[in-house]
Amino acid sequence: MKEIVVVSGKGGTGKTSIVASFAALSGQAVLADCDVDAADLHLVLTPTIRRGEEFRCGYEAIIRQKDCIGCGACLARCRFGAILKSDGGAGEASFAVDATACEGCGACVWTCPVRAIDFRERRAGEWFVSETRFGPMVHARLNPGGENSGKLVSHVRNVARSLAEERKNDLVLVDGPPGVGCAVIASVSGASLVLVVTEPTMSGAHDMARVLELTRHFRVSAAVCVNKWDLNEEITGRIEKEARQHGATVVGRVRYDRAVTDAQRRGQPVVEWPASWAGDDIKAVWENVS
Ligand code: SF4
Ligand code: SF4
Repeated sequence: MKEIVVVSGKGGTGKTSIVASFAALSGQAVLADCDVDAADLHLVLTPTIRRGEEFRCGYEAIIRQKDCIGCGACLARCRFGAILKSDGGAGEASFAVDATACEGCGACVWTCPVRAIDFRERRAGEWFVSETRFGPMVHARLNPGGENSGKLVSHVRNVARSLAEERKNDLVLVDGPPGVGCAVIASVSGASLVLVVTEPTMSGAHDMARVLELTRHFRVSAAVCVNKWDLNEEITGRIEKEARQHGATVVGRVRYDRAVTDAQRRGQPVVEWPASWAGDDIKAVWENVS
């Protein structure tokens, strides 16, 4: 089984359009949207959800008001300012946990003299298995402020691989998160190939170099594609040269084309759009990646 992960140094480089097009061209891949902070592959592929489950990760403290004696020991103990004190009426203080500030360290739980604080697994998001026109898709949604996107990414990848094994598909196509953080590391480690999609700008060149340092560190083969290359041919040339210097393979250029947005609005990959030069370019990139 091969796993191709498409990433970019930052969001908005056209990565998802390319993944959706690859899905259409490959025919039988299992898709995984690992951009869990801002998942958008579903906007192009309009999946039908077959299974959805909660993703739980870390812990949060919750004070049981009926058992709390208002001693304030938890407030003094919490290093993260997550215990809120308010007027409980009749001259007494009331205490509660600010869920957005709680780091789940558990210190307050062990400090409370009357064991009035519950310590529950935190609901960090949801993950889904869906069907699309081009094959099954695993995707997820991290709650606002939800942590451990890396763990959720690993989970999405694992489910996608199991699904591919089950259905005897030999390709997993991953829409990776942007940047070089924890979620990207969770997306690229152990992949067969990482395709870096970048744009012809100075920041695009810089972001690509950072991603290629990451792939080199994890010893994963890397390829580079410049999207909207015709907006600046000179920087495109520089990016391709730098990509080769980093040991990456240049797999093609994609022209700027309004058809990409038009196709997205209709929920279609651009390779299905009639007479689209971006679609033609992506087909050529897919040939090289294959
Ligand atoms: S679990 Fe830790 S961070 Fe959360 S309220 Fe208790 S002491 Fe503060
Ligand atoms: S330590 Fe326990 S009893 Fe004291 S204020 Fe906090 S929750 Fe209430």
